[in-house]
Amino acid sequence: MKITAIKEETVSIASSIKNAYINFSKMTASVLALETDVIRDGRPVVGYGFNSNGRYAQGALLRERFIPRLMEADSASLLDERASNLDPFKIWDVVMTNEKPGGHGERSVAVAVLDMAVWDAVAKIAGEPLSHLLARRFGGGTPQGKVFVYAAGGYYYPDKGLDELRREMAVYLDQGYDVVKMKIGAESLENDMARIEAILKLIVERTGTSTPGKHLAVDANGRFDLPTALAYAKALEPLGLFWYEEAGDPLDYALQAELARNYQAPLATGENLFSHQDTANLLRYGGMRPQMDYLQMDPALSYGLVEYLRTLSVLKAHGWSPRRCIPHGGHQFALNIAAGLGLGGNESYPGIFQPFGGFADTTPIQGGYVEPTQCPGIGFEEKSKLMELFRKLFG
Ligand code: MG
Repeated sequence: MKITAIKEETVSIASSIKNAYINFSKMTASVLALETDVIRDGRPVVGYGFNSNGRYAQGALLRERFIPRLMEADSASLLDERASNLDPFKIWDVVMTNEKPGGHGERSVAVAVLDMAVWDAVAKIAGEPLSHLLARRFGGGTPQGKVFVYAAGGYYYPDKGLDELRREMAVYLDQGYDVVKMKIGAESLENDMARIEAILKLIVERTGTSTPGKHLAVDANGRFDLPTALAYAKALEPLGLFWYEEAGDPLDYALQAELARNYQAPLATGENLFSHQDTANLLRYGGMRPQMDYLQMDPALSYGLVEYLRTLSVLKAHGWSPRRCIPHGGHQFALNIAAGLGLGGNESYPGIFQPFGGFADTTPIQGGYVEPTQCPGIGFEEKSKLMELFRKLFG
């Protein structure tokens, strides 16, 4: 059993949206195919991977360091103990040979692309959905049958204003999402509060709820200094929002801790923490509250699932349940992980970052939940637009 080829390409996921920090007009992603000599259903098994949105493609790192290390390794050294499948942990160690600790930067994104393809191949070789494999090996034995998902969007639309925002959020509510998320922090507090109030009103109109705040999360994308984060906290707290996300710089744990002391409602952060060590520091110093707050580390940006399993061990050691994790990214990889390892949910991008955002064509969102596919691997084969792209790029 061996890896016969690894191919990578850079694709555009550009769009006209923007959040408080960046616009996505030049956003790219790395896409990768890992081919093996294992035959299933008459064809060689191929695992696919890509990186989550928000960080750019990592082709150079993949081509110069990570793919060559893997292709140069002795094939037998990459297999599990019974030599019956690839071993993602051994592969991770080979890929990370001669890499110093710390300074995770873009490297963690490149390794995550490769790691996703490895787990897709491993589950396909095992002949089962990744969620099942993970539940059996690392979870409670059986995966969750359905996973909570919220619709992320609510970006700033230059020149389109509130109407476009309202229209976008109405689509998500009509699609069956129970919680929607919008961006804040690119405009003044006053303007953002008007945007938020408009969406709360829309939620009342669409659902008849008397507690619309429970159905809305806001995300500042790390834009605020401490005084601004606290000013927003004061304005947001009475609204009873689902969560207030990434107020300050993702690595400013003192800011996060001060915010937590001054905001008695759920906070969320973690999508820009790329290692288990960074998460340990957040939990040590960031004042996050295990009974109330949410953690959003994204395995498709942070060295993949091998590292995410270490991150979950850190959580456990600090008294956190995996139920408090709702990963960033809105991709099928995290959906399998959420189902298999008992996480609290997963992000979803129903309308953007296509064809990577969203889940299988066969599993619609129902009441804010989605079922993982029963297809072997991560389930890309049941997401037709994504498979079209993979076939076009890799044959
Ligand atoms: Mg975010």
